[in-house]
Parts: sequence; C-alpha cells; structure tokens
Amino acid sequence: RLVTPLLKGEDESDFELGLRPTNFDDYIGQDQVKESLKIFVRAALKRGEPLDHVLLYGPPGLGKTTLAYIIAKEMGVNIKVTSGPAIERPGDLAAILTSLDEKDLLFIDEIHRLHPAVEEILYPAMEDFVLDIMIGKGPGARSIRLNLKPFTLVGATTKAGALTSPLRDRFGIRCHLDFYSKDELVKILKRSAQILNIALEERAAERIASCSRGTPRIANRLLKRIRDYADVKADGVITEKVAIEGLNLLRVDTCGLDQEDRRLLRTIIEKFNGGPVGIESLAAALNEEASTIEDVYEPYLIKEGYIVRTARGRMVSDKAYEHLGIQKKSSKR
Ligand code: ADP
Repeated sequence: RLVTPLLKGEDESDFELGLRPTNFDDYIGQDQVKESLKIFVRAALKRGEPLDHVLLYGPPGLGKTTLAYIIAKEMGVNIKVTSGPAIERPGDLAAILTSLDEKDLLFIDEIHRLHPAVEEILYPAMEDFVLDIMIGKGPGARSIRLNLKPFTLVGATTKAGALTSPLRDRFGIRCHLDFYSKDELVKILKRSAQILNIALEERAAERIASCSRGTPRIANRLLKRIRDYADVKADGVITEKVAIEGLNLLRVDTCGLDQEDRRLLRTIIEKFNGGPVGIESLAAALNEEASTIEDVYEPYLIKEGYIVRTARGRMVSDKAYEHLGIQKKSSKR
C-alpha cells in the first residue's frame, strides 16, 4: 500500500506502547522548532487555513515522523503517511493527492528520494493546489487540470542538501532537527520508563543517555534491551551497574559509539592510514551505501569530533585514535 497510517517494526511498537509523544508538551527538546511550529499552527487555526508546507530535516530517529503526527493532531486534521521511494509513478501521487480532504496533512518521508517525474507534479499541487496530469500516450495525449482541496505537505529528509531547489523553495516552513542533549535524553528515558513501567534509577538513565548518540530512537531501544537484561539478571530494576553491564552486552561503549561506528573509524585508520578518504572508497571498503554513511553514521561522529570532513575527504581525529586505543603512526604527519 502506498499510503499507510502504520509504521514499521520498532516504531510501530513505540506507537502502540504510547512512547511516541502525541502533543507538543510531551515532545521533549527541539525547543526552537517546537516554539515556531506552535505559533504557525495557532495562526493557521485562527485564520481557518491549512498550515503552510513544512520541511523537517535532520538525521534519522530525531523525531521528524513524531512531529508530523503532532502537527496533524494539533491542527485537528487527518494524516496520511507515505515515503518518497513508495511513490513510483505520477499517477500514484495523483491518487494520494485526490484522496486528501480539506486541510489534511500528507507526510512524505525520505522526500529527497522522490522520482523526478513525480516531483514535477508535486510543484503545482503544493503551490496552487492543482494537478496537471497527462491522459493517454502519443499524438492523442492531452493534459487535464484537476483542482485539489487545500492540504499541508510535511516532508522529511535526512539531508536537505539532496532536495532540488524548486522543491525546497516550495516549503514555507523549514525546520532543522538537531541531536539531543544528554539532559533531554534523560527526560525522554524517564518518560519512556514510566510508560513502560520500568524502574530506572537516575544514574542509570544518565548512563544510557550518554550512550544514545543524541538520538531518542536509540535511547528507547537501549532502554528496552536493558530492561530485558534487568528482568533476567537483576529483579527488573535498572541500576547504574545493570545499565553498565547491559550496555557492555550490547557492545555500546562509554562514548555511545556502537560496533558500526567503531568499524567505520577503524577502517579509515587501518585501510586508509587515517584519511583523507573519499566517501565512495570508504563505502566500498565498508560494504555500505555511501548515503547510509553520510546520513546515518557520519553526522554524529562529526558532531562529536571523531571524524573531520576536508575538501579531500574524511579524516579521523586524534580523539578517534585515543578512543580506539590505536597509536597514531608518526610518519603520517
Ligand atoms: P524520525 O522520523 O526523525 O526518524 P521518529 O519520529 O520516528 O524519528 O522518532 C523515533 C522515536 O523516538 C519515536 O518512536 C519516539 O518514541 C522517539 N522520539 C522522537 N523524538 C522525541 C521527543 N522529542 N521526545 C520524546 N520521544 C521522542
């Protein structure tokens, strides 16, 4: 199905468990984004108009989908959820757009992956709420124009830079989500623990928060796995000791880097002499998609200063050598 109100895997269960905040007050952090969205929502409601189109961008797991649901709820409208790669043909998008009711919210995840031919019909839909579609093929083909009910498009992307500028320009509201602070993650963990009925001690929450790569999705995932460990090994209470043991078992280190992060850093050091290395060579060495490295692994490693991006490629920093306990070859300097 192209349009589905359901989410996949872990996120779906988060939804069912009630972990996903459903209003602005429960949505922790991202204060600036939240404050401006609240104002835009209130203004749109006051005027009785649909909210302007919203672009949410930032690394995965930071709460873009959650925000889209909150906006729909606060606007009191229905939400339809789809994603860029799921819409294969212009006709697919036309079917979705014509099914929207007045002021409904359409959420397109991974909007940077829309097919160009699909994107083309989105422009007039966003701008004038009309749809130009071609009927037939060859000499008999003609274009017809359909009016759409005014709607709000919320697009999410891990990289705003990958959006074409005509598409980017059509979003009146653009919000960048950033990694969460440790304090914010502690709050998120405490909230989740309460909902899931988990006994989580303060120091344990702090430990888990520092290991969550600034990402609520990871914080919740670690909490659930450490709860399993606590249930089996420690009468269900997550103390600091239980948290540390659980994190060790999950191979998350004290700085929150996981196996994949360490593999990436180690590869740059061992195969590319610490860098600089181009993204494509690195992707080939790791057997990963370049875009996964750029969107999923790298942003946090760069933010924390383990990797530096230079004009000639990625380089690991001294911090990475220290963290992995690898001696830097002096000939490299
Ligand atoms: P994205 O769409 O950016 O990949 P999601 O919106 O799916 O991220 O968020 C991932 C999970 O993290 C959600 O299921 C939710 O439980 C949790 N989450 C995200 N942002 C917040 C927040 N600000 N406060 C509390 N929990 C959050």
